Amino acid sequence: MDEEKKRLAEATLAQIAREVSICQRCMLHHSRKLAVPGEGPVETEIIFIGEGPGFHENEQGRPFVGAAGKYLEELLAKINIQRKEVFIGNVVKCRPPNNRDPLPDELAACSDYLERQIQVINPKIIVTLGRYSMARFLPNAKISDVHGQSFRIKGRLVVPMFHPAAALHQPSLKISVERDFALLPELISDAGKPSIVEEDKPPENKSEPTQLSLF
Ligand code: URA
Ligand code: SF4
Repeated sequence: MDEEKKRLAEATLAQIAREVSICQRCMLHHSRKLAVPGEGPVETEIIFIGEGPGFHENEQGRPFVGAAGKYLEELLAKINIQRKEVFIGNVVKCRPPNNRDPLPDELAACSDYLERQIQVINPKIIVTLGRYSMARFLPNAKISDVHGQSFRIKGRLVVPMFHPAAALHQPSLKISVERDFALLPELISDAGKPSIVEEDKPPENKSEPTQLSLF
C-alpha cells in the first residue's frame, strides 16, 4: 500500500470506529459503557474475529483485554506474532448484558461495520474465534468438525478456530486451538502465492463451503 492509500485506509478505519462509538442500531447500545470497534494496523495480512466485548473490553473500549485476550496474546507469541501486528475485532461491537450470546438481530445490525473493516484491511486470512464469527462465513459448519481447516471465501482464506475463552477452561479445546494456531505461519506465507483454486462463495450462500485443505 502506498502512503496515500494507507492514510486513506487509516482514516476509513477511524471513521468506522467513530460511527460504532455512537451507534444505536441495536439494543446492545443500552448496556455498553464503551463500544469496542476493534483495533490493529490497516496493513496486515491477517485479522482475528471474536464474538463480542466482555466486562473488561466494555470498560476499556478495546478488544480482547481480559483473560481471553491474555491467552490470545500467548497463542500469537507462540507463532512469533505480536498483537499489534494483526487486526483484532468482533462480530458485535457492544457488550451483551452478562456476556450472553449475541442475538441474530444484533449480529445482523452490527454486520456492516465488520464488513467495511474487512474491505479496508483486505486481509488474506480471516481467523474466526468461536461459533458466532465462524457462522458469519460458514453458516452451516460445526466448529468441532471444521476448526483449523481453511476455506476460500471471496478470495480470502477463512480459518475457523475455537474461542480462546472456551479453550482456557477445557484442556481438549486448548490442545486443538494451540494446534490450529501452529498452522497459521504456513498459511500466512502461502497466502501470498497465487492460488490454484479460486472459488468465490459469498457469505450469504447457504450451500456447503469449498474446502481447500484438511489438516
Ligand atoms: N471475547 C471476545 O469474543 N471478544 C473480545 O473482545 C473479548 C473476549
Ligand atoms: Fe451498533 Fe453493533 Fe453496538 Fe449494536 S452492537 S449498537 S449494531 S455497534
